[in-house]
Parts: sequence; structure tokens; C-alpha cells
Amino acid sequence: MKKPGALCTGLFGAQSLHAGDILCVMKCAEDLTRTRPYADGIYECHGHLMMDGADFASARNRHKNGVDETALRKALEDLRSAGVRYFRDGGDAYGVSALGRDIAPEYGIEVITPVFAIHKKGYYGSIVGRSYDGTASFHRRIDELREAKGNFVKLMLSGIITFRTWGDLSCEGLDPDEIKELVNIAHSEGYRVMAHVNGAKTIRAALLAGADSIEHGYFAGREDLELMAEKNVIWVPTLTAVEAFVERGGFDRSVAEKTVEEQEKNIRQAHGLGVLIAAGSDSGAVGVLHGKGILREHELLARCGLTAEEAETADKELWNRFSGRVNYP
Ligand SMILES: [Zn+2]
Repeated sequence: MKKPGALCTGLFGAQSLHAGDILCVMKCAEDLTRTRPYADGIYECHGHLMMDGADFASARNRHKNGVDETALRKALEDLRSAGVRYFRDGGDAYGVSALGRDIAPEYGIEVITPVFAIHKKGYYGSIVGRSYDGTASFHRRIDELREAKGNFVKLMLSGIITFRTWGDLSCEGLDPDEIKELVNIAHSEGYRVMAHVNGAKTIRAALLAGADSIEHGYFAGREDLELMAEKNVIWVPTLTAVEAFVERGGFDRSVAEKTVEEQEKNIRQAHGLGVLIAAGSDSGAVGVLHGKGILREHELLARCGLTAEEAETADKELWNRFSGRVNYP
């Protein structure tokens, strides 16, 4: 059987796509439906219904005075037509994913969402949620999450990749003691923790604190990968979201390429260590279209040696843990 992605170098969302690439992308998607059948549908383990894969500012303007249901329905339709049946949202500041969870069954899709992600005031994360400033205000956020029927807690523990110098992040990660406190509170309130985190030091702190999934996890060290295996934590490496920067203007192409390469190297190592690696494309982020993004993520994970069965096992395990089907702890 041909490995999906073996011939495919096309980048979704890239301006330089030409007819040959598009045919190749379509061919790969066809191959995927054969080689990664997921009898009950595809899992998108990390996405944002609020975003449209194009421009974040216009997505925000569209929803900031009330959810634009037309845009939300388009995202759900794109996911449905790609075969996505399960969608774990990473949160937004405008209630888009919460409404999405309500109407997604019309598209045969189940959505789980933290409703909003939580970040520390002054740190990265306002684009996907609400801030806290001290323990008392963090508790208030958890109360709001319960009120909004959030399915789990999403924590923003580090900055994002700048694509200027390799390894560079947009801001400092949170202090390990603070991370431990946040995770403990979330767990003691009965919620799983989806941790947005990059950079070895902060990834280590998230793992030691007991985060249930590591999202992105760029620039992890070997010991972090070993710790993921030991703690049976699920890793969602979101390769597609970073690959989209390779062709994007205003960023250093060679830094983006090296970032993808190093992440693929880490995925191969983690795979060898038996880490559960789930497929999430950061669907909706710039350059990552809903539906097409997750098909691309599977191609990239296949390139790192993950079999369809392994990806499916990790996806299902993630879904069971975060949808509350497996009670905490
Ligand atoms: Zn995200």
C-alpha cells in the first residue's frame, strides 16, 4: 500500500500552489480515506472553530459583536465534507466554539471545547480566551467555565513560535510552581488539562505538574519525550500549523523549515518511546483550513512513521479522556 504523503509536497493555504500540487493534495486526501479509514470518522484533536485558516483579525471582527453563525456553519460544513466526526476545540474569546458544540450534531460532528482558554494577564493567549491574575481570579475562570459547561480546561503556559530565530518564543513561559498550582486546581475541580506549551523548560514543568495533553510541544528535549511516555500523556504536535509558515511572507523560511524538521525528529523519537501521539492540525490557524488541515496532519504524521492504527488509538484515547467518558483521574 502506498504511504500517504509519499509524493506530496503541496502546502495547504500556500499561495504558490499550482495545478499539479492541487491534484497531488486531492490524491493524498483520497489515499488517506483509504489508508486511514477511521470507520466512525476522523478526529481533529486541536482546532479553533472561531478561525477560518485565513486572517485572524478579520475572523475576530466577524465574531466580536456576536457569533457570525454563517461563518461558523461554513467551518462545520468544511469539516463534515472532509470526513471529520470529532472536533476538540482549543477555545476562543467570543463563544464561537460553545455555539459550535450546540449546532455541530446537525453536521454529524461532536465538538468538545474548553469554551475559552485561560492565560495569565500580560502573557500570550488573549486571542483564544480570558486572562487570570492570581489564584482567586483563576478560580473565578474555572467557575465561569463550569457555568458555560466547558468540557475541560485549556491552559496557555508559554508563548508562540516567532519564526525569527530558531527556538525563539513570543514570551516567557509561566513559572513551574505556578503551572503546578493551575493544574492542581483544574484537576481538583474535576477537569482534564489541555496545555498549550512550547520550550523544553515549560514543557517539563507542564509534564511534572500532571497536564493531560501537550499541545504543540515545540523545542522539547529528549527527557521531555521520555517523561511523556512515562506519564502516558498525549502529545498533539500540530505540524500542519507550523508547516504553513514555511511559505508565509514576513517570516524566516529557513527557521520555519528547521522547526518542522526538528519537530518531526522529536515525533520519531517519541514514537519509538511509545508516546501517544494524536492528530490535531490547529485547524483554523493561519494557513490551516478546516478539514484539509487534519488530512495534511495525517500525511505528516505518517511521514514520521506513525501508522494509521497508532494515530487512531491516540485520537480515541484523547477523546475518551477529554470528553469525560473516562472519569478523572
Ligand atoms: Zn490552537
